[in-house]
Amino acid sequence: MEGMTTICPQCGSGKLSPCQGSKPVKCDECEWTGTDRQLIKVPIPKNPNSLEIDQDGALEIAKHISKQYMLLLYKDASQVLGRCILQAGLVGKQDSKNLGRMIKAACVGAHQSTLLEAESISREYDTGRLLS
Ligand SMILES: [Zn+2]
Repeated sequence: MEGMTTICPQCGSGKLSPCQGSKPVKCDECEWTGTDRQLIKVPIPKNPNSLEIDQDGALEIAKHISKQYMLLLYKDASQVLGRCILQAGLVGKQDSKNLGRMIKAACVGAHQSTLLEAESISREYDTGRLLS
């Protein structure tokens, strides 16, 4: 049987630590705390670098990685992107509504492009030719 791993039900991170009290598990990446039973159990894919979708488990992991990446983008990149958008003059400093829309679009774009590239890289590994 394949090995199993557990991931955070909120952000999909595998970085989980034991903690005290009625909720004995906490996630190192987000604020989630809970019990072992609440954790999502997924089989470890044979090639953890691949995002192949022919196995439900691999698809589940890919979904969680994707979601976590999006959360990290929003959390860590929003300020930087907002500053770039303002400095480039794409939107006025007072127009916080449209600035918010642009930051969201930038995060979504970065997210999609990265995942597409990860897929290409994975395909190149599969076919044995890796382009630089
Ligand atoms: Zn988490």
